[in-house]
Amino acid sequence: MMRMGVAVIKVLQAILQYMGRRRLMAISISLAILGSPFFDLSMSEFSSRHRIALHTQAAVASNSVSALRMKIPVKGGELDVSLPGKGWTDATLADFQDWLRFSAAAVVSYYGSFPLRNTRIRIFQSNGDTVEYGETNYDDENERGTIDVYVGRRVNRATLLNSWTLTHEMVHLTFPIVDEDDVWLAEGIATYVEPIGRARQGLLSKEKVWLDLVEGLPNGLNPRLRRGLKGSSDWGRIYWGGALFCLLADLKIRSATKNKLGLEDALRAVSSSGGNAASDWTPEQALAVADRRVGQPILLPLYKRFQSQAVWVDLDELWRLLGVHARADDVFLSDSAPLSSTRDLITGVRQ
Ligand SMILES: [Zn+2]
Repeated sequence: MMRMGVAVIKVLQAILQYMGRRRLMAISISLAILGSPFFDLSMSEFSSRHRIALHTQAAVASNSVSALRMKIPVKGGELDVSLPGKGWTDATLADFQDWLRFSAAAVVSYYGSFPLRNTRIRIFQSNGDTVEYGETNYDDENERGTIDVYVGRRVNRATLLNSWTLTHEMVHLTFPIVDEDDVWLAEGIATYVEPIGRARQGLLSKEKVWLDLVEGLPNGLNPRLRRGLKGSSDWGRIYWGGALFCLLADLKIRSATKNKLGLEDALRAVSSSGGNAASDWTPEQALAVADRRVGQPILLPLYKRFQSQAVWVDLDELWRLLGVHARADDVFLSDSAPLSSTRDLITGVRQ
């Protein structure tokens, strides 16, 4: 997510505003297929129902080798996975299976269950040594979630298991596929939940979860803007502004319920009530269900605020309260801070 240079982002934003987002999607996919390092970025995915045709073209272009197919059971559902034939990468079939299982388990650790009974996952080969990016949709005709993920030929077991991309995409299945005005909400949820789920699976340390928030959340704040996040095309505001919404919502819920409930209870209620990628729910419907679970209006009013106006948060003060102290490329977590127990409940394994 953070590998793309600022200049490239500016160019993308300009193109986006000029051409409209769907055209940009086509461009991003084309370049990814060509394996251009220019597009060696995982953040170039925007959930949308309009991309399946493009993916079909991508499959023809990048996967002429016959695919392997496997079914992987997960709690609450099954993954129907295809990947290129053997020998295209050093990672073994077992490595891919573990990557798929761990990614799904990370989602299950946050939501209690995988959100959809049936999900089709197509793995495509691309250049590079990492998981490049993924895209999530819902296939109404076949009643299944779809995730396309582009994996570099030089990946190995470690780079697969260190990658956040597939977990991020799976989190998108837990919430309605939203319109462009609300992309920030869906991306914020995926950005916030993915590392927590992976930390609970032992794939990340809790320090790394907080370090990434310390480094990432400032991208969601822009003191020069008065506009809210509605319809934003700024990747920093979309991903990290949305993640900031989630962190604030989590803290508000935990404060209001004396740590009995957290954002995960609210989001679980949405997904388990049917407000997942299969639904046509609006964000308002989903967040109303979330607030009913919490017992008071927290998410819906906060969402409306983030939609309509720039929100400023004193992050330094927030880190002090949470006991998150950044130092160089690391963080130290203090156990004597006012909200240190709340902080550890956020990342801790649910009992
Ligand atoms: Zn996403």
